[in-house]
This record gives sequence, structure tokens and C-alpha cells, in this order.
Amino acid sequence: MPLTLTEKILASHSQRDSVSPGDNVWVDADVLMTHDVCGPGTIGVFKQHFGASAKVWDREKVVIIPDHYIFTADKMANRNVEVLRQFAAEQNIPYFYDVGTPRYKGVCHIALPEEGHTRPGEVLFGTDSHTCTAGAFGEFATGIGNTDAGFVMGAGKLWVKVPPTMRFVFHGELPPYLMAKDLILAVIGDIGCDGATYQAMEFDGDGVYALNIEERMTLCNMVIEAGGKNGVIAPDHVTLDFVNRRNAGNRPYNVHRSDPGARYCFEKVYDVSKLEPVVAKPHSPDNRAAVSEIQGTKLDRAYIGSCTGGKMTDFRAAARILAGKTVKIDTFVVPATSEIARGIREEKLNGKTLEQIFQSAGAKIGEPSCAACLGGPSDTFGRLNQAISCISTTNRNFPGRMGHKEARVFLASPLTVAASAVTGTIADPREFV
Ligand code: SF4
Repeated sequence: MPLTLTEKILASHSQRDSVSPGDNVWVDADVLMTHDVCGPGTIGVFKQHFGASAKVWDREKVVIIPDHYIFTADKMANRNVEVLRQFAAEQNIPYFYDVGTPRYKGVCHIALPEEGHTRPGEVLFGTDSHTCTAGAFGEFATGIGNTDAGFVMGAGKLWVKVPPTMRFVFHGELPPYLMAKDLILAVIGDIGCDGATYQAMEFDGDGVYALNIEERMTLCNMVIEAGGKNGVIAPDHVTLDFVNRRNAGNRPYNVHRSDPGARYCFEKVYDVSKLEPVVAKPHSPDNRAAVSEIQGTKLDRAYIGSCTGGKMTDFRAAARILAGKTVKIDTFVVPATSEIARGIREEKLNGKTLEQIFQSAGAKIGEPSCAACLGGPSDTFGRLNQAISCISTTNRNFPGRMGHKEARVFLASPLTVAASAVTGTIADPREFV
């Protein structure tokens, strides 16, 4: 029977030739990732059910990445990191990226591929809803809760219902004023925040394969904003080049692709050359508007960062617009990881590093972490501590998401955010690129 990419991975990890949507199967985990917000809870569940002196099922497959509430004086946040530290030492976990050491990385979803923990055909469970980001590498990657993660930590497997697969095909050449963020905001605007509830979202088409790996990660990152169980893109040479350069432990992996004739529960085709820059207005990622419709809306702040909008591709795009200009509103730049922080210090555009471009424009640059994407403690860099309006490259704009409950957050591509930072109002990147 022809299978989709997601079905093939789940079949291969449940020792079956085939699975169908709705089947419940035990799925073997290749990697379990946790971070400082959910790690302590996961460890608590693991110890409660497997025993205080139990060992994780495979110490090489547990990856621990503190990233959320890092650069803060908040005692509870600091205590959470300390819990991870003690657990990693006790279990002798090799892949622990501790704060305050040269191994510190930053945002888990970008740290995972950078450190070689994402491989085609694998199953990645993570205690974070944006674990779906790693579907860009042709694997089944999904977010799970602390209870499930505590179980995976001890047993190395999880009871999973096979999702039906939706297919989104992008054709055509992406214009220079559009980015993957515009594509995924267009999809979420079309199908709504519950449009893909418990379904796999597979992306295909020449418009997808023309994107670099970071942009493909942006597509998969936001499937959860439509309720998706996972996002996935079949690997090509771009994926394999990246994975083969990074693969931690040089683990073997299998490349799967959807079979011709595989069953999709939904299909939608986009011509990317005809799309416009879009934003998601407050207070939902599906509250889409074309930039042209709300151009001129007054803003107080711009924010460029997070797992969906704090990668090198995002900063290159923002720098194209900010070079030689001055921002009119408070603008915060937060690299997702330490590798990206180094990248913006080293990579140049017209003789200036990206960091120099941002600083000359008047932007403030923070340490790699989730920072204000999730609000965090009140001393978090870039946090919205007042009821202000912010345009952001992040992925969620629910009330209170970036701090103050009455703050208004507009989600947009780094090009649109940078253009808006320069004008102080929502601006169309077509006027700048
Ligand atoms: S950057 Fe934001 S969305 Fe990504 S993992 Fe951190 S808090 Fe979550």
C-alpha cells in the first residue's frame, strides 16, 4: 500500500510494514529533547515512575538544551537549570549544552540540527511544541508533554496515533520580498489555527526545494500554529549535505519519501510568485492580513529572534533593509544560538558585519536564547513589560505571549519587521528590496 512520508517513518519505528491514519502504535524514539522549562517536570515524572535511581533508556539519545529563561536573575528559572545540570551529571548525559560553558547553544530547535541531532527517517520527541521544526530534515518530529516525555526517558518509546497527512505544494519562484514566514502565515491564514489538528503537514514542490534548510525549518516550525502533529519535507541534497556535515555520532539514517499514490486527506497548491507579504495581527497566528492592508499601523517595538525568526537567513534579510538606515522604534535582535551569534559578528554585507549594521541602525543585540519570544521573567531581554505594539519574527501572538497581557503582537517575516523598524509603522518590504 502506498504510504506518506510520515506513515513510512512511523511504520519503520513500530516494526510494521505499513500503518494507516488512526492506528495506535508503539513508536521507538531516536532522540528525546528537553529544556529548562519542561525538563525538571519530565525528570520528576521519570523518577516517580521508574525509580529515584533509574537510568534513562539510552544516555546517547537524550539531549538536554537549556534555552528559555537563561539570562535572568529569577531564582526559579535558575533553579530549573540547576535541576538539569544535576540530572545530566547523575546520568552522564553526553549531549547537555550547559549555560555558562563553551557548549552553551541557545534555542533548542536550532541547536538540535546545528549539533547534529536531526537526521532523515528518525523519530524525535521533544518537550516543546515547536519540536516540529525538525521535520525539515525528513524526520517525524513532534512535541510531547512532560508525562509522555518522562515515559520516553525510561522506556524509549511512545504510544502514538498515526496522523492523516495534508499536502501543501508550493510552485514558482519566491520573489525577493517574500520569505518562508510569509508562506506559512498564508497557509495558517487559509486553514486556521485548528485547520490541521492532529494531522501531518507535508510540504512539497519546487518552491519548497528552492528554499535553504533554515527557511524549510521556518515552514515546519509553525505547523503547530495550525494544530499540526508534525510538519515534514522529504530530504534532498540540501538536507543531506547539512546532515552529513553535522551528524552527531555519525549515526546511520534512512531517507524516506512519500510513495506515488499515497493518501492525503487534503491538498492545496500555491503559486509563490503570486503571494504578498503578510502579517498575523493580534491575537492569533491565523489572523492574517496582507501588509498592504494594514500598512501605516503605528508600532512601538520591533523584535527579530526566536526559533522561527532568529537564524542566519533571517538576520541576512533584516540586514539588507537595515544597512545604512536608522530604526525609528526600539528594535531587539536575538540570535537563536551561539553559532548564529558568531555568524552575525563575522558575516559581512557591503564591508560591515551584520552586527555592525544592526548596531549602527540603533538596534539592541541580546544573548542567544528564547528571550522575549515567550515573555519570561520581567528582566528578560526585549520583554514587552507594557501594553505596547510590537512587530515580531516570532511564531505566536496570543495575549501575554511576549509579556504584558494587553500588548499587541504582529507576526511577520524578518524583511517586513526590518522595514517596519525603519518606518515605525507596519511597512511593506517591497519598498525596500
Ligand atoms: S524561541 Fe520561542 S517558540 Fe522557539 S522554543 Fe523558544 S520560546 Fe518556544
